[in-house]
Amino acid sequence: MIAGNWKMNKTTQEAQEFFLKLKEDVRGITDTEIVVCPPYTLLYLTSDLIKGSNISLGAQNVFWEEKGAYTGEISPLMLKDLGCKYCIVGHSERRQYFYETDETVNKKTRALISVGIVPIVCVGETLEEREKGKAFDVVKTQITTSLNGFTIEEIKGIVIAYEPVWAIGTGKTASSSQAEQMHNFIRNTLKEMYNSFSAEKVRILYGGSVKPKNIDELMAEEDIDGVLVGGASLDVDSFSRIVKFRRK
Ligand code: PEP
Repeated sequence: MIAGNWKMNKTTQEAQEFFLKLKEDVRGITDTEIVVCPPYTLLYLTSDLIKGSNISLGAQNVFWEEKGAYTGEISPLMLKDLGCKYCIVGHSERRQYFYETDETVNKKTRALISVGIVPIVCVGETLEEREKGKAFDVVKTQITTSLNGFTIEEIKGIVIAYEPVWAIGTGKTASSSQAEQMHNFIRNTLKEMYNSFSAEKVRILYGGSVKPKNIDELMAEEDIDGVLVGGASLDVDSFSRIVKFRRK
C-alpha cells in the first residue's frame, strides 16, 4: 500500500491537474493499493476525480463523535459519505500541534471502525527519545494504548504507520534496517497483545522522507508493507515513481 498525505496543501485546480496525470501514470496497477489523503476541502472533488480508477480516498483526521455541536470538526460518517476508505489518525503533527494523545487516537480509531473506514494509525518516536534509547518503549506504549480494547477481527482491519518524528519532512530517512527492526517489533507487540494472532496480516507502513530514491530499498524489507508519503506525494512524478517501486 502506498499512501500520500498532502497535509495542508493544494487548491482545487492543482488537485485536478494532479489526478489527471496520476490516473494515467498508475493505470493498470492492481497489486499495490494506492491511496491519496487530501485536505478536507478537496475530498468531495477528489472522490469525483478518482471515480472508476485504482486510487482510493483517505482523510487526514477525524473527530470521534457522530454529530452535534462540535464547531469545526468532521465526523466519521461525513467522511464515509464522501467516499473515504481510509483515514489517518495520530499523525505526529497532530500530536505535536493539536495535542492529540494515544487516548484520543484510540477513540478516533474506534469511531472510524464503527462506520467501516480503515484507520491508518501513526506511531513513532522523537529524536530525543531515540537518542535516549527509548524508541522501542515509546512505540510499544503508543501501540498498546492506541489499540487498547480492540478485537482480533478489528485489529486485522487496521493499518499502522511507523513514522519516526525525526524523519518526517527533514530529509532524514530511517535506514531500511532501522525501519525493518521497528516494524518487526510492532508485529511482535501485536502478537503479545493478541495470543495466537497472526500479525503478518496487519499492514505496517513506513513514513518519513520517503522519496523515489529510497523507496525500492525500503520496500525490499520483509516487514515493510507499504509507505506513507508526505512531501513527495505532492509531486505527481515523484508519487508515481514511488507507487511503481521496483520489486527485488
Ligand atoms: C508524513 O507526513 O506522514 C510524512 C512522512 O512526511 P514526509 O514524507 O514529508 O517526511
